[in-house]
Amino acid sequence: RLVAPATASVQEEALERALRPKLLDEYVGQEKARGQLEIFINAARGRQEALDHVLLFGPPGLGKTTLAHIIAKEMGVNLRMTSGPVLERAGDLAALLTNLEPNDVLFIDEIHRLSPVVEEILYPAMEDYRLDIMIGEGPAARSVRLDLPPFTLVGATTRAGMLTNPLRDRFGIVARLEFYSHDELASIVARSATLLEVDMQQAGAFEIARRARGTPRIANRLLRRVRDYAQVKSDGVVTDIIADAALKMLDVDQQGLDVMDRKLLQAVVEKFSGGPVGLDNLAAAIGEERDTIEDVLEPYLIQQGYLMRTPRGRVATMLTYQHFGLKAPSNMVG
Ligand code: ADP
Repeated sequence: RLVAPATASVQEEALERALRPKLLDEYVGQEKARGQLEIFINAARGRQEALDHVLLFGPPGLGKTTLAHIIAKEMGVNLRMTSGPVLERAGDLAALLTNLEPNDVLFIDEIHRLSPVVEEILYPAMEDYRLDIMIGEGPAARSVRLDLPPFTLVGATTRAGMLTNPLRDRFGIVARLEFYSHDELASIVARSATLLEVDMQQAGAFEIARRARGTPRIANRLLRRVRDYAQVKSDGVVTDIIADAALKMLDVDQQGLDVMDRKLLQAVVEKFSGGPVGLDNLAAAIGEERDTIEDVLEPYLIQQGYLMRTPRGRVATMLTYQHFGLKAPSNMVG
């Protein structure tokens, strides 16, 4: 039992890798980001230069890591991956940067969580492909300058607002990833079903897509659970009826909200009379981290019109009351 969750997540990761589109043409949706990148990649490749630094932001599971892989592949260079919290000391970043080959891509996930010292040495590296590092301590300390090969930094963050201005300003290409439409998700689910050899009807793919919180990672995860359900409860064919039954079992409701979504909305409505409620109070009420609420839960609920962010806190909307079959307060706006 103790090893089960770990193995499951290793498996999930392997599956996720297998489902990842490899080229820009296979990357569904995100027309704007894709269109921009196509032009800039072609131009950089034509000049045999490193692509300008790219900042990708948007909620988890929308395809930031996937795009970093695609950029490296389309540029025909290596991809090195790390993340903000992992780079504790300046030396950690220096080691990565000095090992790059010309025009390589360095992907830093959660780039908003870089420590200030690491961020400092990133500035000249991004700007002039140069490292200024201090060696030694006290009176004997001196600064050493190292030249780096040209490289592309691809940074990913859930919220662009969490980056310091000097860091954000050093990215030449900034792309915001949006939630996917039902049609886009349906085509992602259909593609994944083919790769996983799942017998999928179009209506089945659409039912999963419709209830996947606008997020490819969730769509792919639901697909795998629906596949299990279809295999055990029926003949393996994923129809809309089978998908609906499986999603119901997974506690994903008709509007595609999951247990945590409903817990959050119910807390706003029932414990805080519809709001406004501050983030800390809300976090305490539902036993979630502030960051999880801000990065994972809220963006979709706001985009779908269930929640509003006001200067005084989070407020439930009419749609939320309707969703739970409750009568909205008479003074309610919107
Ligand atoms: P993020 O880095 O933003 O958290 P990922 O890039 O890891 O998200 O994407 C999660 C999964 O969703 C990937 O494994 C991939 O299979 C799928 N995915 C993401 N974006 C797309 C897309 N545009 N087209 C097809 N599949 C996608």
